[in-house]
Amino acid sequence: MAFVTEALFRDDGYLAEAEAEVVAVNARGGIILDRTIFYATSGGQPGDTGRLSLADGRMVEIAATVTGETKDEIIHVPPTDSGLKPGDRVALAIDWERRLKLMRMHTACHLLTVVCPFPITGAAVSEDDSRVDFDIPDAGFTKEDVTARLMELVRADHPVATRWISDEQLAANPTLVKSKNVRPPTGSGRIRLVLVGADGSVDSQPCGGTHVRSTGEVGEIHIGKIEKKGRENRRFRIRFGPAPAA
Ligand SMILES: [Zn+2]
Repeated sequence: MAFVTEALFRDDGYLAEAEAEVVAVNARGGIILDRTIFYATSGGQPGDTGRLSLADGRMVEIAATVTGETKDEIIHVPPTDSGLKPGDRVALAIDWERRLKLMRMHTACHLLTVVCPFPITGAAVSEDDSRVDFDIPDAGFTKEDVTARLMELVRADHPVATRWISDEQLAANPTLVKSKNVRPPTGSGRIRLVLVGADGSVDSQPCGGTHVRSTGEVGEIHIGKIEKKGRENRRFRIRFGPAPAA
């Protein structure tokens, strides 16, 4: 039986603490709560780490967060048996500094797809380096060009917001999804769009990840490398901070 966890991070990516109840502990020790602020690994964004604490002072480290039988079932993975049981009340805290970096990096990946509007073949976000792979034979521009255009979008401090739309709304307004390379997962009844700029003027695309509230919060970033990965694939690496002097 699959559980449905209320995913608090979908409506508020800035929740660093919350309270919840243990619903189940699976055969491998994974903890399922009624609600959570822990993002589960998906869409190239790694799951959260953090801790659960009980009123009696016990503390359970969470080393990873993943999805279970369905994408709605979120499993908190402790390094060893937690001793938790259904009905336990726990206070949740994610490793906020790590999550904020992931949100900044993830949002930077959206900006990169604006600067480089090519089909995406893969993406991975991490705390200090992210990559997006594009299906193109040649980038046609340098990492300095891309960095400059990314930083224009960061400095413009565009708002970043989410909006739920129905499959029918999407079908009636195909232009809502500006990126041609991400197929929205239709069929579930509703789709979460991530909008950059007023009403998605800069970009809108379906995404279930966590993002910062405005592009200014991404902070200074640069393209560390554009790598050739096969004849028709280029990998762009985004890093925090100013580009190192050549
Ligand atoms: Zn996203």
